[in-house]
Amino acid sequence: MRKTRPFGSPRQRVRNSAVYGHQRFTLLFQLGASAVLLILALIVLNSLHLWRTYHQALARSQTNTANLTQALTQHASDTFVQAEATLEELAEMIHQQGMAPDKWPVLHRLFKEKTQGLQQIDAISLYDARGRMLVTAADKLPSVNDFSDRDYFRYHRDHPDLTIHIGQVIRSRMTQELILPLSRRLDNPDGSFAGVLLESVMISHFRNFYTKFVISDDSTLMMLLNNGTVLYRHPYNEKAIGTTIADSPLYKDNIRQNQSGTVNSALANDPQSMVYSYEHLKQFPVIITSGVSMDQALADWRHDAISHAVMTLIFVLMISLVCLLLMRQVRARMRIELELIHAQQELRKLNRSLEKLARSDGLTGLYNRRHFDLVFKNEFNRAIELRRPLGLILLDIDFFKQYNDIYGHVAGDECLRLIGNTLRALPLRQRDLAARYGGEEFIVLLPETDKTGALAVARRIQDKIGQLEIQHRGSPVGSISASIGIYVGLPISEVDTPSKLVVRVDAALYEAKRLGRNRICEA
Ligand code: GH3
Ligand code: MG
Ligand code: MG
Repeated sequence: MRKTRPFGSPRQRVRNSAVYGHQRFTLLFQLGASAVLLILALIVLNSLHLWRTYHQALARSQTNTANLTQALTQHASDTFVQAEATLEELAEMIHQQGMAPDKWPVLHRLFKEKTQGLQQIDAISLYDARGRMLVTAADKLPSVNDFSDRDYFRYHRDHPDLTIHIGQVIRSRMTQELILPLSRRLDNPDGSFAGVLLESVMISHFRNFYTKFVISDDSTLMMLLNNGTVLYRHPYNEKAIGTTIADSPLYKDNIRQNQSGTVNSALANDPQSMVYSYEHLKQFPVIITSGVSMDQALADWRHDAISHAVMTLIFVLMISLVCLLLMRQVRARMRIELELIHAQQELRKLNRSLEKLARSDGLTGLYNRRHFDLVFKNEFNRAIELRRPLGLILLDIDFFKQYNDIYGHVAGDECLRLIGNTLRALPLRQRDLAARYGGEEFIVLLPETDKTGALAVARRIQDKIGQLEIQHRGSPVGSISASIGIYVGLPISEVDTPSKLVVRVDAALYEAKRLGRNRICEA
């Protein structure tokens, strides 16, 4: 049995697969490219948004830090201005009245009043040129009365200027408080060093104020001396007081260079990046800095960025998923389409071969009687209509019964096949038709052919069969021969029918048989 191929001829299959492959590639590529573009657009838009909001958050935190610095600067400035005014007032008074022991009780009262009136003041004291405390706000003088080792004392002893001096933070020997010494030199009328007037500001005064600002642990608010020495630090850290940031890039590159500013920088001992804002006090050698950690500055932005990134990721995953599902569906659909196309082609091919089978004779490959009858009927009608002649050749193999008897049926079949090939190989016109009429009889239809033409075809057939030289001991001529009848007529409607024409050609064939076979007779 012949095997049925599933999807058409190999060449067709290749062509179909190529077309299908190209279409599938184009579709899948378009789908994939759209998804990739969409994802890229999403990522770019989100990145732009995050970039913009990052800079906004940074700018906002810089503004906030600068505002904070300004508030602290104002506070420090107010404190020092007040202290300076008090010192100047007292210095002026001492200058006028002198520092003789008889003035001490008055000064003591005055110092006490001022100290009680100003919360931030720990003490006000007067020292002579040798560093001994003469008068103080407290009721008692210290038992060890020598302050000549204090920096502020030495400073004024060695510097003639009469401006206010802000020293490093020290611990008071009287109250054990951490204090910021604000001092002024006192001169004798001849300009020689007379002593020092000291006003000590409590560090707790700054601490109370700075505590009002809620900042994260990694942020810092600082009050510095101009040389970078830390006067106060918030969050409060006593160890940091007295240290210096003079080596930090923040101090060297920014604070030392400018009056005020805001930078993103890092301290030498703390590499973490911060948003710093600093400002120098105008009248005093003091600097205020506020440092907010980037973590704190960008906390809200980071939160926003994470939720954006998560949303983007979810979108990207959703788009990818939808795209993959669509791609799978497209692939499945195209596969089904291809299978349908193949099935259709196979069906068409099957139909064609069925049609061919229905029209042809299995043994000889010529058209069969059924097909001949159909074509003959059409040509008959056409000949009537066009008034054109119609020729018929009927051919019967001579002594074929004997051939079968002598050589067997298989040889008989082979002989019929050879004669079929001969008839198929005839150079006939397009509308001519050779068919197996039945048994060992063949018929040739010759539309629009005259007698001469039909006779020529018959002779050619007779010659070709002779040339086959098929041995036949049962025939007087020794080989296979055929008797041929010819009929050529102009069919007339209502008189002639196709079968009447066949009867006439059959009669001619009979005549050929009767006259001794292996010949051509015309009707
Ligand atoms: P005549 O010369 O009068 O035509 O004698 P004949 O023997 O050819 O005539 P007859 O009609 O008596 O015999 C025809 C034979 O053809 C009978 C049959 O065995 C043989 N035949 C018909 N069809 C086939 C076929 O398909 N194959 C074979 N092998 N033989 C066939
Ligand atoms: Mg016969
Ligand atoms: Mg015969």
